[in-house]
Formats: sequence, structure tokens, C-alpha cells
Amino acid sequence: MKNFQSIAKVQNLLLQQKTISCVTIVQQYLDTIKAHNPTINAYLEVFETEALQTAQTIDAKIANGEQLGSLAGVVVGIKDNIVYKNHKASASSKILTNYISIYSATVVERMLEQDAIIIGRLNCDEFAMGGSNENSAMGNVLNPLDITRVPGGSSGGSAAAVAANMCLVALGTDTGGSIRQPAAFCGIVGLKPTYGLVSRYGAIAYASSFDQIGPLAHTVEDCARVLQVIAGADAFDATLAKTQVPNYTKDLTLNTKKNIAVLRTSIEHPALDPEVKTAIVNKLQDLANAGHTINYVDFPNIDYLVPTYYVLTTAEASSNLSRYDGVHFGYRSPNATDLQTTYIKSRSEGFGTEVKRRIMLGTFVLSAGYYDAYYAKAQRVRRVLKNEIDAILATNDFILMPTTPSTAFTFGAKKDPIAMYLEDIYTVLANLVGLPAIAIPCGVHTNTMPMSIQLMSKAFAEAELLSFTHQISTINNN
Ligand code: GLN
Repeated sequence: MKNFQSIAKVQNLLLQQKTISCVTIVQQYLDTIKAHNPTINAYLEVFETEALQTAQTIDAKIANGEQLGSLAGVVVGIKDNIVYKNHKASASSKILTNYISIYSATVVERMLEQDAIIIGRLNCDEFAMGGSNENSAMGNVLNPLDITRVPGGSSGGSAAAVAANMCLVALGTDTGGSIRQPAAFCGIVGLKPTYGLVSRYGAIAYASSFDQIGPLAHTVEDCARVLQVIAGADAFDATLAKTQVPNYTKDLTLNTKKNIAVLRTSIEHPALDPEVKTAIVNKLQDLANAGHTINYVDFPNIDYLVPTYYVLTTAEASSNLSRYDGVHFGYRSPNATDLQTTYIKSRSEGFGTEVKRRIMLGTFVLSAGYYDAYYAKAQRVRRVLKNEIDAILATNDFILMPTTPSTAFTFGAKKDPIAMYLEDIYTVLANLVGLPAIAIPCGVHTNTMPMSIQLMSKAFAEAELLSFTHQISTINNN
């Protein structure tokens, strides 16, 4: 199959050189999906007929010389927690099996308006809760770079599909790292936008004060192109900021010198794999050599990140997931005999172990006797963290960190839920403080798996973040 590695390359062939039709592009992705998806299990469903029809419409527009959208010819996979009208959306949960959405998420509408082709829905951890895709009720997704290893999660299907060329870009959601961590494990780029930049209308909620939708792609530039389309005010999502969306691709090649903060505790952390640490230290040296300023800063609170995240997100999840009651939509237990057993049995049978664990944990931290000790305290810690990070970013352009403590691990390696939660140490910070963060590849480990660095910037500074990471990923390509 032709390797369509970027939007610009695809559009050059489709629109400038006109050496390939949109139908052929889609057909090639369908062929790749047929060849690899039975093993990788990234797609839960492929919209084959529909994708080919959309491609025909685009080819007709090209033939008629009509104006095309900015994502013409771009084949997109969507995480199964983002709804698409008249299509199933299950969040990889038994409780939503066969649920068909009656509306489309704003991000889906916007991509379709720009002539993107949505080719299917992608496997993920159930309700986006997990970091390995092992919590999906629809089976594991395998890492296409090494099928004995996890692809990361929760957007594991999204990352695996892009890495295996089963779509050009994918949409994921990121509540505590679910775009960036799988991007890191699969060797691609993943962006979590600022909280309030991208509409969540039509994203199945996990923890509403954390959730964001964002792109996964082969390049920073492609993330910028997708963000351009999905960002910005939406009457259906009141949490969106009313800021003007800048042009994210215009300044990608700007070459300005930056101040980069490094949290000392992040690179000195005992959980960090020594080779990943070396890769980061080398990267910092390269950046210093290229004229950027590296500032090492104190951040003693690093070990509070994961507990704070898990108290707050489980609390929010326990509330958000109360709507799956066996009455309104989704799975209803055949063993239910009255209202009470409808609730109890539908939820007990419909949710998986990890989702139930989080609902119980969240209910506990919100309960009258423990609210102050856990939930209210975690809210205060969140504010402290926000103030600390804002202070660091007042004098620095970016914070640079590892994306993950280690490379993709093997299936079953993190059986203890706490061990799995601790994997999120570097990613949850951006969600706790609502800031944008991007994961980009940073070399290959001796275990053959990709390593990744993460950069975080000030709120709504995606243009600067994308420009800088584009620059450092093209100048020093691993
Ligand atoms: N691994 C994290 C968790 O399990 C992140 C999930 C996410 O970002 N959706 O909560």
C-alpha cells in the first residue's frame, strides 16, 4: 500500500498532481484494515460502503472544479466514545452495545464539513478508563509495532490505527493522558488541547472537568491541521472559551528561541526508565545547543498528581455514569424484574471491572463522611498545582517532560490497578491544570519500542506549542 504519511502528501497526490482518486485512497485504507485489523483489533466497525460513497462525492467535486474542504481526502478513524449520527457508539462497553447515536459530535460535523472521510470507530478502554486498552469489553488492541505489547490507552485503537496506516489521522479523548500515552507507545504524535478549546458535544463523558478531544497523527503538522478544524466556540458546549482560533499552520516554521522548563522531579523520578531518561537528557542538550534556554525548576508535588487525578476523576465518573441505568439507553439486564433490579442488574452486568471500581471509588470520595477528606482536599490540591504550573509558565514558554515512565509494556504486566495508575504520572498534570500538551516521538529504546517526550504550554498557546514541536521534530528527527 502507498504510505500516505501526511495530509499534505495525500492532498498533493489528490488535488495538485491528480494522480490518485479519493476512492482509490479509501480503498487502500480498506485493504490495509482488512489485512491488519483482524490481528490488531483497532476498529470495532468499519464504515466501508459509506466511506467509499463519500470518496465518490469528493472525486465528483474535484472533477467539477468545486471548492474542497481543508481535510479533503483525509481518512479518519474516531474513538468509540465520540458519537456519529446513525452510527453505533459503545465507548467499548457492554452497557452501550448496540446503542445508535441520534446526533453527531461537533468535532465529527466539523471534519465532515471539511470533506474528511470517516472510515470507522475505534476500540478504546471502556468509557476511556485505562492506559493499555485491556479494559475494553471488545477485546484488546495490539500494538502494531510489537503485538506482544499494549498500544496504550485509553485511545489505543486510535493510536494503533494511525501507526498501522489504517487511517491517516484519528480522534481520541484525553482525560489523563489517553491521547498522548498511546501516541507515545505507538510512535506517533498526539495532542491534548487546552481545556475549553475543542467542543466536547458528543463525547461520551468520563470526567467532565478533565475531558478533551484531540488528534493523533503521524506529524505535528497534521495535528495542527485537524485542530484548526475542530477548535473553537460551539453553542452546544458551554465550557468553551470564546477566544479567537488562531491559524495553527501559518507559523509552523517559525524558528524562535524558547525558554523551556524541566521539572527536576520529573526526570529524577525513580519510576523513569533509565533509557528514557537518557533520551530526554540528550534532547535537552540538543535544544540547548540549538540556542534554547533550559531552566531546571523545583516541583516537589509530583507524587500528588496521580492520587489527585484519581480522586477527582472517579468522583466525576460516578456522577457521569449514573445515566446508564438500564432504562434510558443501552443494555438492560434480561434478569431484571422491577425498577430496582433493572438498575442493579443492568449496571452490574453491563459495566466492566475497572469501570465499577471507579464508580465505587468516586461514590466513596463524594460520600458525606469522606467528602472533605478526599474530594474537597483534592480540589484544593488541584488549585495548588495550577498555581505552581502557572508560575513556572509565567517565565517559561514550555515545560518538557517524558510522556510515559517507560515504553509500551506487555499484556498483563500491570495487573495491580495502582501500578497501572502510576503509569499516568506524567500525563495527568496537563489535565489537572487544563493546559495543552503534545507527545512527540523521541528515539527508539533498545527494546525496539518508541520513546516520547511531552511539551506543555500556557493555555490557548497551541500555535506556539505546535510550531515549536514541529521545529524540533523536523530538525532533530530522533
Ligand atoms: N490512564 C488514565 C485513566 O485511566 C487516562 C484516561 C484518559 O485520559 N481517558 O484514567
